[in-house]
Amino acid sequence: MNREKIQVTRSSMPSFEEYCAEIKELWDSRWLTNMGAKHRQLQEELEKYWGVPHVTLYANGHLGLENIITAMQLPRGSEVITSPFTFASTTHAIVRCGLTPVFCDINPVDYTIDTTKIEALITKKTSAIVPVHVYGNLCDVEEIKRIADRHKLKVIYDAAHSFGVTYKGVSSACFGDASMFSFHATKVFHTIEGGAVCYSDDKLVSLCDAYKNFGIQSQEDVNYIGGNAKMNEFQAAMGLCNLRHLKDEIAKRKRVCERYRERLSSTTGIILNQPQPDVISNYAYFPAVFDGYKYTRDEICDRLLAQGITARKYFYPSINTTTAYKDYPTAGGERTPIATRIAERVLTLPLYADLALEDVDRICELILK
Ligand SMILES: *Cc1c(COP(=O)(O)O)cnc(C)c1O
Repeated sequence: MNREKIQVTRSSMPSFEEYCAEIKELWDSRWLTNMGAKHRQLQEELEKYWGVPHVTLYANGHLGLENIITAMQLPRGSEVITSPFTFASTTHAIVRCGLTPVFCDINPVDYTIDTTKIEALITKKTSAIVPVHVYGNLCDVEEIKRIADRHKLKVIYDAAHSFGVTYKGVSSACFGDASMFSFHATKVFHTIEGGAVCYSDDKLVSLCDAYKNFGIQSQEDVNYIGGNAKMNEFQAAMGLCNLRHLKDEIAKRKRVCERYRERLSSTTGIILNQPQPDVISNYAYFPAVFDGYKYTRDEICDRLLAQGITARKYFYPSINTTTAYKDYPTAGGERTPIATRIAERVLTLPLYADLALEDVDRICELILK
């Protein structure tokens, strides 16, 4: 039996030869960054793949989120309704752009924002909703659109987990005013580090392009106070390679997830995410919630670790209960009890394309015995 250490995730890679062939031209052209040929090609391929009018690529997803929030010019100090059950990036982006996060609880079924609780949080100062698609589960995009339209709010999705997910055949990239994707090495599709924002408003194109490049739009002037968030050519080349293998990547992840489900689904006290109606998942994560099980989440985590298997408490802690936010005027972990409860009980199990099914069995035995 394979007794090597098992990490919670492992980046998928193209073959060494395939990547070398992809970057060969960069040695010839010496055009290494600043929107070169690979950057343009990846942008076009993603626009086609997602079926969206505009994609802007970034050095990472987080800067993409900051950039699109900036480009949308939401009033400084305005309130943004968001989910606390997320990675630090989402909330940080809101705050770093001078906006106030208002935390809305999640629903206990798929852990996305509870749309029945959004409207009670809307005030005269609310300018946007930043919901998070989690684990490859999609938010209730239709209800969020109804609420946003009724109250004239912008919707910016943190879609970092949802590359390749569709709802009723439509890509997760097509909802809201904009969506941010992360192409970090641990994501289903990656460019080592990297990210993208997609949107339909033509006016945002030149703003996004400028903000990721110091606010510069021409050689003659500096138009905005922007930063540096450009994706380089080596990142884009990795993306072009990985895009070719995406279908296979998702199919292999699906096999692993189905095996976990077979082994764990009938155990009382272990709660698994159910497939969402009309959604085709990307199998980005396999979360298990230990609630009323004979062992706690932390005990399971330690037990796996003792056997060299790393699972991840993700997302934990709920962002509004962290040191960075707990004293924030609008935080209040007590106002988001479900997010707090799930964060304290969830464990994402090891998952990557080439994880052997025998290893999945071994992990499940350790959890169940
Ligand atoms: C990965 C991730 C991010 C940040 O993306 P980076 O590309 O690492 O900057 C933001 N939000 C969520 C939910 C993520 O999982």
